[in-house]
Amino acid sequence: MSSEKKRKLTFSPSAAVKTGLLVFLASIGLMLTATVMSTAHAAAGSAAEPPVPEDVRAVVIDGKTAFYAYEPDIRAVLDGIIDDYTDGSTVSACFRESVELDAEDIPSGSQVLESGEIARLLDPEGGSAWALTVLTRRVESRAVTVPAATETVENSEKYQDEVRILREGYDGEVVLEYVLVCANGVETMETQIGETVTVEMVPEIIEEGSLPGSRTDSKGCYIWPTVGIISSKFGPRTVKIGSSNHQGVDIANDKGTEINAADGGTVIYAQNSHNGYGNLIKIQHDNGAVTYYGHLSEILVSVGDKVAQGDLIALMGSTGNVSGPHLHFEIRPNGVTPVNPIPKMTGELQRS
Ligand SMILES: [Zn+2]
Repeated sequence: MSSEKKRKLTFSPSAAVKTGLLVFLASIGLMLTATVMSTAHAAAGSAAEPPVPEDVRAVVIDGKTAFYAYEPDIRAVLDGIIDDYTDGSTVSACFRESVELDAEDIPSGSQVLESGEIARLLDPEGGSAWALTVLTRRVESRAVTVPAATETVENSEKYQDEVRILREGYDGEVVLEYVLVCANGVETMETQIGETVTVEMVPEIIEEGSLPGSRTDSKGCYIWPTVGIISSKFGPRTVKIGSSNHQGVDIANDKGTEINAADGGTVIYAQNSHNGYGNLIKIQHDNGAVTYYGHLSEILVSVGDKVAQGDLIALMGSTGNVSGPHLHFEIRPNGVTPVNPIPKMTGELQRS
């Protein structure tokens, strides 16, 4: 056998995966070794034996001779198997088993298998003892949503229960790239190899107050609940309609003028009083005082509501005993007895 020459034959899977193979060839190592008899050796064979055709090879799988076949047939079958498990996303493909085509020592008269039988024996899912396993690697991209984060900023001039969104947040997106390793098309391992931000995530910004207490706590002072002119003061008066001893102060303006809570507190009455007050709101304050807001055209709060000083609670009107649209406003410091509101008010009444 000293005259034999050996050469390495590299098995080349289909063109579809060749580009990727350049990258991964080192790890695949799909090398088929063939030993090819020299012409001299073939001529030296025994004259009594029928000559073995030159391109018959022993197919050696994991070191054991499986069968004999013509080299073009076995190569076509191997290519076909690889093709079955690869597509455009495949970057490399190889067999788990070592597959060698050996031209050495082929016994005379050996049965040479045809393509169909070769394919049946090597079919990865055919269940034969020589069934091959195709290992493939492919790259897969997956878009993943990055939920908007939340950032909080503190405002020391607002109460702890005052929370507002300063800026809306938006979800982002990243595309993750994976290499998937499959055996006969079944994924066995995945490794992340890349990450690309396609949509930048924008965090939501929330402002939170840090002052102890609540925005609806009573401040203990009163702001003018509306704008307009004082049309009737507190105390005795001579009128055709309404009380002759005026229990509050009247502030006249157009119907629909906004009415705000004079101080923070809890709404304890909000309905048509069916008396001279017409539509009436009463707010209970933390120090025991109650404020009244009468003749309203519209009531915008309900009993039990917590309101802060300055919150919109109603619209001016002329319900009850009135000659024109105005707000009848009372302060009852002990919750029962009205007093002149004007000395208790903070700042000047604005006309509009
Ligand atoms: Zn009045």
